[in-house]
Amino acid sequence: MKILLISPTIDAEKRTNKGLMMPQLALYILEGLTPKEHTVEIIEEEAEDVDLGYDCDLVGISCMTANAPRAYELCQEFKKRGKTVVLGGVHPTILPDEALQHADSVVIGEAEGVWESLLLDMQNGKLKDKYHDPIPDLQKYIPKDFSKILKKRLFKLLPIMTTRGCPYDCDFCCVTDLFGKKIRHVAIDNVVRDIKESGAKNFMFLDDNIIGRPKYAKELFKALKPLNISWVGQASVSLLVKDEELMQLAADSGCKALFFGVESVSEEQLKTMRKAFNEIEDMEKAFAKIKKMRILIHASMVFGFDNDKKEIFDETVDFLIKNKISTVSFNVLTPYPGTRIYDKMKRENRLTTTDWRYYDHNTVVFKPTNMTPYELQMGKINARKRFYKKRSVLKRLTGNLYNPILYFATNYGHMKQVKVEASRMERIKSDLFDLNQRK
Ligand code: SF4
Repeated sequence: MKILLISPTIDAEKRTNKGLMMPQLALYILEGLTPKEHTVEIIEEEAEDVDLGYDCDLVGISCMTANAPRAYELCQEFKKRGKTVVLGGVHPTILPDEALQHADSVVIGEAEGVWESLLLDMQNGKLKDKYHDPIPDLQKYIPKDFSKILKKRLFKLLPIMTTRGCPYDCDFCCVTDLFGKKIRHVAIDNVVRDIKESGAKNFMFLDDNIIGRPKYAKELFKALKPLNISWVGQASVSLLVKDEELMQLAADSGCKALFFGVESVSEEQLKTMRKAFNEIEDMEKAFAKIKKMRILIHASMVFGFDNDKKEIFDETVDFLIKNKISTVSFNVLTPYPGTRIYDKMKRENRLTTTDWRYYDHNTVVFKPTNMTPYELQMGKINARKRFYKKRSVLKRLTGNLYNPILYFATNYGHMKQVKVEASRMERIKSDLFDLNQRK
């Protein structure tokens, strides 16, 4: 069979420079799981056009919530042309019945346990509506061929994943629903093999918390050290600073930057969340320890919690500049379907739209408690603008001098995004925010 795998864009009008994008790991895992008798073509629509007339037997589309509407449009177009379409990814996993209205079949959860049997059923004309293996085995090696894509990339940064599952089940997150409560690992030998076979030197670990199991993480970091790579990843700041050995091993294995879900600088808010730090002072001490290891800090912040008042934007930026945080993602609380926060907002009649295109953690889709949706939206945009002003970049440089190239490169990328976000807001504000709110 000829199989076309697609990662749809959110906005079909917008294109991202392919040379700057990191490949979508899910599509390469699917390709690796596909028996050699079939051929696979991968299209990342954010960077290239989808050929609706492409000659193939099966179209597989993987999507999140914000690009689900575009995925559904593509399903319709391919089905019109007589193709069989399978949907998978986060959104079809959470809302499989919605996805099934658009596709011939839906993969719920991870593809590892089901992709080969789906292809066999397809060949035998017995495709089922849904495929689901709740806890697939991650021990089997899946080859991932990034060679073609690496030639087209300016930044040769590859994605890699070593763990799935999270025990915390936070209100605003669906990772536990997707991957289960138990943390499962890829065998360390297979991670090393992936790295060696890729020939790349820079990696991004996509794990929700790469040190979720410190024992595994230590073994992993020891195995990475001789490979002489650079990597960035996501980790729990409290877990990391508690364990000096773990922190040292991470730094020695090539860790250049870590992404931390700080979420809020409001102590009132932190106390309501399952965060190990609910004192800002402890968080500041932890950041200082990580900087000593010469690891850049990327903080993820969320605005729009029920405790947030209008002052939260300035308080947050002041805190981040004071602590000379390298880079920051400024997000708005997003009640993704399938989360408890979505159910709560729906119950309280606070959702302002259920157009999934706007469920992208950048756009306000609900009524906050202490401000209007528009004030929250603009507060978030202006906080980002202020943090990435040239003056702020220079002020923060003194705390990031141990890796100035990565510091400037990442800040430059974010500075460009500030402009992109402002122009997008001009385009969509009449859709989402009524005039009275905007005053
Ligand atoms: S937000 Fe992080 S800690 Fe909470 S459930 Fe999601 S992945 Fe786990």
